[in-house]
Amino acid sequence: MDRQINFQPHILIIGSGGGGLAAALSIAQNFPTYNILVVAEGDPRKANTFYAQGGIAIAIDPDDSPYYHVRDTLVAGDGYSSPTASHFFASKAKEAIQWLISLGMSFDKTETGQLSLGREGGHTKNRIIHVKDHTGRDVVTFLLNHLEDYKERFEIIYNFRVYDIRKRRDCYAVKCVSLEDGQTFEIEVPLVILATGGSGYLWRFTSNSPLAIGSGLFLAKQLGVPLKDLEFIQFHPTALYLPESPTQPLITEALRGAGAVLRNSYGERFMSMYDERGDLAPRDIVARSIYFEMKKHGIAHVWLDATKVKDWSRFPTVLNTCLKHGIDPRKEWIPVVPSAHYQCGGIAVDVYGRTALDGLIAIGEVAGTGLHGANRLASNSLLELLVQAYSLPEVITDNLQKCNITVLPGKFNVDKPSVTIEDRLRQLMHEKVGVVKNEQSLKEALEWIDNQRSSLSDIDNIYIQRQAIMLDVARMIIVRSLNRLLNRGTFYREDAVTISF
Ligand SMILES: Cc1cc2nc3c(=O)[nH]c(=O)nc-3n(C[C@H](O)[C@H](O)[C@H](O)COP(=O)(O)OP(=O)(O)OC[C@H]3O[C@@H](n4cnc5c(N)ncnc54)[C@H](O)[C@@H]3O)c2cc1C
Repeated sequence: MDRQINFQPHILIIGSGGGGLAAALSIAQNFPTYNILVVAEGDPRKANTFYAQGGIAIAIDPDDSPYYHVRDTLVAGDGYSSPTASHFFASKAKEAIQWLISLGMSFDKTETGQLSLGREGGHTKNRIIHVKDHTGRDVVTFLLNHLEDYKERFEIIYNFRVYDIRKRRDCYAVKCVSLEDGQTFEIEVPLVILATGGSGYLWRFTSNSPLAIGSGLFLAKQLGVPLKDLEFIQFHPTALYLPESPTQPLITEALRGAGAVLRNSYGERFMSMYDERGDLAPRDIVARSIYFEMKKHGIAHVWLDATKVKDWSRFPTVLNTCLKHGIDPRKEWIPVVPSAHYQCGGIAVDVYGRTALDGLIAIGEVAGTGLHGANRLASNSLLELLVQAYSLPEVITDNLQKCNITVLPGKFNVDKPSVTIEDRLRQLMHEKVGVVKNEQSLKEALEWIDNQRSSLSDIDNIYIQRQAIMLDVARMIIVRSLNRLLNRGTFYREDAVTISF
């Protein structure tokens, strides 16, 4: 059956993760005359936000201040984060979280009724608010519930992919396709918010959802909007090694804080050979050390020995995930592998998410605000998208016109082709554009991608279209990686220069 969009918005939000939903709520509350449409490729329960475990960074402990939060952000970003952005997000954190709390969102509390503040790698103070180890799930559920209050003016449609966006006079002409029946639509709208998330699924080993293929970067490129820092991809050192699965569940770093240690295939602890901080070295150093250890011994993963961890009540998600896959981490070592986790750069924007084009905003992981620099400080990403959403009313005007929606002639093919190159591309990214790379590996990857891209035909098939997006985004990341000759933060090329800042 053909699907119709029977709703005329003033604002179009692309993506229904935390960024898209929080933006929708903030606008719905502050602009009572605006209709808001969210178009999303997948259900919000399948977006990365839903899987966020650790929490949200906010400096509210009496012993803490935004100053220390900024300092930790700049250190983690390897001196490459924008001080302006770091200051903006750290100092607005309290207001943005208070916004959610005032609407009824609850986070874990201490026995005395204060917000319980956890500590994560790179933070020198306790400042991570959380809901056990499923903060993202609760934030998404909370936002969806609250958006129900605005259902007269808010609509969300799933299983629609935005694949084309052009500037037309004072509006944007945005094309989307139904992934169910291939029907295409054009939405002509004055304000577009890109909230399409990151690109981690381009890699074979990733903690990210299959929706995270960087399509916001692809769309921004169509408009000629500048992108920045795409080469800085954060690899989480310890994701559960599941060779048959397209994605890897995270094994939180807090487990190493609680006594777990990394071991190679001989059972040897190896981290102290790479860094004096041993198993508690920063995320990028641990990921690289694991890579070198795997290469040295020709092994596909290393082990995390968590058998000495005493209090498993702190890690219910990790325990259940491992048990589900037949591993009892209380008695057995966990096979782990570094996995693509977070895109530190993105579309070049100011702290509010404003791009170089009027009426085009980017929010969440797709946005390159400069906060994360060369390496993201843990739990700064949920903070970033919430502060951006909360601050949006400061930069949105109240005289937007309603949009036009047109059903386009012709349909896309929705049949899955028998052969797809998606898996091969992801394997290639893992091998040649992964934790450690060099000029030769990058050039080989680029050549393969260009060959595949030129031979792609039938782009009017939704599966082939996805492959084209993945190839184009991967290409942009590789070109930026070839141009970068200085190692920094998450970025490491064997043939580039490393300077300690
Ligand atoms: C396992 C895991 C744990 C994490 N833990 C934490 C944590 O504890 N703290 C923290 O701060 N950060 C954490 N992060 C990072 C953080 O969760 C993400 O950076 C953040 O949630 C991204 O939100 P987003 O709204 O930008 O994107 P997402 O949540 O990824 O949502 C993107 C949306 O865009 C849609 N979309 C994409 N392309 C298109 C298209 N072309 N057309 C239509 N729709 C499209 C998708 O369907 C989806 O709805 C974690 C990430 C992962 C993967």
